[in-house]
Amino acid sequence: MAAIVCALACGIVAASSTAAGKKLNVVTSTTDMAALAQEVGGDNISIDSIARGYQDPHFVEAKPSFLLKLKQADLLIVVGLQLEIGWLPPLINQSGNPRVQVGAAGYLDASQFADILDVPTGPVTRAMGDVHPLGNPHYWLDPDNGRRIARGIANKFASMDPQNAAYYQQRFQDFDKRLTAAGQKWDADMKPFRGRKVVTYHNSLSNFAHHFGLNVIGYVEPRPGIPPTPSHTIELMGLMKRENCKVIMVEPYFDRKTPDSIARETGGVVVEYLPSVGGEKQVTDYFKLFDYDIALLIKAFQSNP
Ligand SMILES: [Zn+2]
Repeated sequence: MAAIVCALACGIVAASSTAAGKKLNVVTSTTDMAALAQEVGGDNISIDSIARGYQDPHFVEAKPSFLLKLKQADLLIVVGLQLEIGWLPPLINQSGNPRVQVGAAGYLDASQFADILDVPTGPVTRAMGDVHPLGNPHYWLDPDNGRRIARGIANKFASMDPQNAAYYQQRFQDFDKRLTAAGQKWDADMKPFRGRKVVTYHNSLSNFAHHFGLNVIGYVEPRPGIPPTPSHTIELMGLMKRENCKVIMVEPYFDRKTPDSIARETGGVVVEYLPSVGGEKQVTDYFKLFDYDIALLIKAFQSNP
């Protein structure tokens, strides 16, 4: 009997490492992809993100240490939709790692799994400085997309490490359950504020707003990636006054000068929300990211009816 128990227990231990006893070495461009990969990869992967959660993912300064991570990676998971185009392609190239080159088996673009908003219908406007030419790359801020991405990553892990396929699928099922439970609470907490109008600094909350029923009426940036201009700011303040919009949501890495002056002029409030896991020390996983932002928003809505 003891032998059977041991065999079962040991079987579980054995199943948590790859055939060669080596963990899948996973690198992600951002902390959000790392958080989702960690949920489904568990103990079978080692994970590292290149960008930190408090950095603007459009503009990450390349460091030599990133190259070392990429050289050793079995799998690179990116957000895609050109979010990382300003900094990641040279790193991939210089890594000389054939596994993670674009199109190789170890390169995974997570945008293929997500529902993408703001896909331009006209000509692509990157030439005008717009950093969202293929649609909104901040799609992880909808929990339904988080679920889709996690499922896609679990399938990828299973295909790269078939011996542990059941482990990854079980981890995904567990994540899915916990996300459903958390999502029901987030939806209930946000329900009284459905239809509320907000302004965001960057166009990074389309998916969040879509999921929770918020109405983003304008942006501090005239176009994604283009710094505020006086004429656009005056226009935006007029719009906020007409629409009685009091909440300005700003990522922590943007200059507060313009949003603060907009808040003063319109009697509104600046909410410094977190766009990514790791934006603050205590926001250590995908669940805590929504917990944190929803609590902040509710406070802002309640004090600015
Ligand atoms: Zn963006």
